[in-house]
Amino acid sequence: MVGFQTRLRYPEQKRVFRMIPGLENAEFMRYGSVHRNTFINSPKIIHPTLQLKGIESIIFTGQLVGVEGYVESAAMGIIAGINAVRLLEKVKPLVPPKETAIGSLVRYITDQNITDFQPMNINFGLFPAVSNGKPKSLRSKLIGERAISNLYEFNDCILT
Ligand SMILES: Cc1cc2nc3c(=O)[nH]c(=O)nc-3n(C[C@H](O)[C@H](O)[C@H](O)COP(=O)(O)OP(=O)(O)OC[C@H]3O[C@@H](n4cnc5c(N)ncnc54)[C@H](O)[C@@H]3O)c2cc1C
Repeated sequence: MVGFQTRLRYPEQKRVFRMIPGLENAEFMRYGSVHRNTFINSPKIIHPTLQLKGIESIIFTGQLVGVEGYVESAAMGIIAGINAVRLLEKVKPLVPPKETAIGSLVRYITDQNITDFQPMNINFGLFPAVSNGKPKSLRSKLIGERAISNLYEFNDCILT
């Protein structure tokens, strides 16, 4: 089994999977397990530009900064790439707007108030709340629209 994350003990996995019709006598070469992420203590040691505090020419990225998942790790790579070029061109590095998916994740991983920092996927809980009084069913749509509008402004910053 590839990429199978579970806390089930090996004998239990054997028992459960052998319940699947046709697998009664299957032999399993490798069982599932929870994988461990290696990550830095981002809230303490990096800026929201992903630069290392104190040695700003070093930029961290990918899963190492405490994000989880393909899209999230690649998104950190985009920010790191943009800021590496900006540093070389001697212009101010950028922080993605907190109203966008990438920005809300960056805000989470560099939140100074977090005491037990753990890796995070992008999720709606990370975004700043939309204005009160709106029906719950509309909130994700409003968050999306707000993110797109903020992203246009961010794109303008990148290009100037
Ligand atoms: C079993 C498993 C299943 C997963 N399933 C999913 C999924 O379904 N969906 C999802 O979104 N995410 C999933 N993930 C998470 C996802 O794989 C990672 O979040 C993502 O690949 C991290 O990308 P990255 O580029 O930051 O790091 P990595 O993909 O880990 O890349 C880091 C690279 O750096 C190299 N490297 C390390 N040290 C050095 C060194 N000293 N010098 C040079 N190179 C070095 C490594 O060899 C590696 O190639 C899964 C992870 C695991 C382990």
